Amino acid sequence: MSATRVLVLNSGSSSVKYQLLEMTDHSRLASGLVERIGEEGGVADHTAALRQVAAELEDRGLGLDSPELAAVGHRVVHGGTSFTEPTLVTDAVLAEIERLVPLAPLHNPANITGIKVARDLRPDLPQVAVFDTAFHATIPEAAARYAIDTATADRYGIRRYGFHGTSHAYVSRAAAALLGRAPAEVNVIVLHLGNGASASAVRGGVCVDTSMGMTPLEGLVMGTRSGDIDPAVVFHLARVAGMDVDAIDTLLNKGSGLLGLSGDNDMREIGRRMAEGDERARLAFDVYVHRLRRYVGAFTAVLGRVDAVVFTAGVGENSAAVRAAALSGLEGLGIEVDPVRNAVRGSAARLISAESSRVSVAVVPTDEELEIARDTYALARG
Ligand code: ADP
Repeated sequence: MSATRVLVLNSGSSSVKYQLLEMTDHSRLASGLVERIGEEGGVADHTAALRQVAAELEDRGLGLDSPELAAVGHRVVHGGTSFTEPTLVTDAVLAEIERLVPLAPLHNPANITGIKVARDLRPDLPQVAVFDTAFHATIPEAAARYAIDTATADRYGIRRYGFHGTSHAYVSRAAAALLGRAPAEVNVIVLHLGNGASASAVRGGVCVDTSMGMTPLEGLVMGTRSGDIDPAVVFHLARVAGMDVDAIDTLLNKGSGLLGLSGDNDMREIGRRMAEGDERARLAFDVYVHRLRRYVGAFTAVLGRVDAVVFTAGVGENSAAVRAAALSGLEGLGIEVDPVRNAVRGSAARLISAESSRVSVAVVPTDEELEIARDTYALARG
């Protein structure tokens, strides 16, 4: 019996998500979520959470001791400039991921614990780290650099890394397949619109720009994050409003975006309120789609020629209103959404552009777990 299964672990700050995939046919054998880690009513810590995952799999006859398990793939948020590809975990690799903690203080520690516990449970099994930043490692210096003093930037690792890389990689490739072309032949703009949101410009399968920066705060308007903002707002809040750095961090990361503008972070709720004539909800929607349109324009200029604009993740896959509004008025760029196609709901990758549109517009469901599993399986098999 050969080992053809991969367990994908996504250890977040307060939750662990898992999926067990069979790689011969990409079927999902099990999936689940352990929430409220370290909180009231939840498990104590990540070690306990991982043990619960192991127990849940065991209960379903899919325990970690199964000989069919080939490897464990871990989502790791920040790979800095050290990791530009999926990487087999060794002690040295773990130490380097730890060294990167200051760049992702909320995320990397949880990822590290996930790796360590999984390694303890099955020391003989390959553990693979798949980095959220890796797909963006190809972004040229001109786009990755902030225009600040280079010595300070280099000393503190201040540059644009980008995130959601597994999603941008998966979706840009799937979009090429939908167009019936090789990834190397097409230029696409991917709009990953979930709770977090980011845009990327992918030229011939290679990422050349992205909206998120040193952290996931930059770029598009998100559920609770502001996205792009004048950095002097931070100084102003400190000097004039008397807020300290942590309070400002919380405001911009957790109390801004759709939530800050309207009181709701969920696009479904915004839609419902807009239908009732709620003006704050309308404003949040307008700011959200204006930012999107700006990035589509900017990335069109970056790419020079665009073959497709692709929507993915919770909002991108489900909100026809956001898709239509974000791309309205872009006929001059050759982008035209077909209202009837756009309104059709579905779970498959599909085109929503008008016949006359020079640029294809598509909806492509993302699958970060499958992408991580593929990367992991490829490395584990050597
Ligand atoms: P995450 O970033 O947590 O992985 P998802 O990609 O699942 O998030 O996206 C979650 C978001 O998708 C929700 O907060 C919600 O705003 C949005 N969403 C989900 N379904 C719909 C829908 N039918 N219409 C509009 N927005 C939706």
